[in-house]
Amino acid sequence: MAEECIFCKIINNEIPADFVYKGERIVAFKDINPQAPIHILIVPKKHIRSINDLTEEDAPLVAEMIMVAKQLAKELGTAERGYKLFFNVEKGGGQLIFHIHLHLVGGWK
Ligand code: ADP
Repeated sequence: MAEECIFCKIINNEIPADFVYKGERIVAFKDINPQAPIHILIVPKKHIRSINDLTEEDAPLVAEMIMVAKQLAKELGTAERGYKLFFNVEKGGGQLIFHIHLHLVGGWK
């Protein structure tokens, strides 16, 4: 846990969030400022700053994040219609919260 990290606080239930998934290594919750009808953040419990900070040992965790996203897209009814999965990386890439997270956006008609 990194002090002052808003996503660590959400993971530790110090700040509320609208969770859609809670697993052993990963949680997912609704984005507070959705950019689409469905906007979910898939977040590992392990505090990793960005994609740039991933190590080889994190590879299974990243794979699991994508598998959770795939499952949530199905459960939320946007799997067939289509959706986007993306990471923003560092400030120039639009990252504002420096705890790695996978965006799932979709649900468009
Ligand atoms: P960007 O805002 O450019 O997408 P990030 O990729 O770092 O930057 O994404 C951070 C996301 O976290 C934003 O979509 C923002 O709306 C969301 N967010 C910020 N605070 C909270 C919160 N307390 N609960 C849920 N989502 C949050």
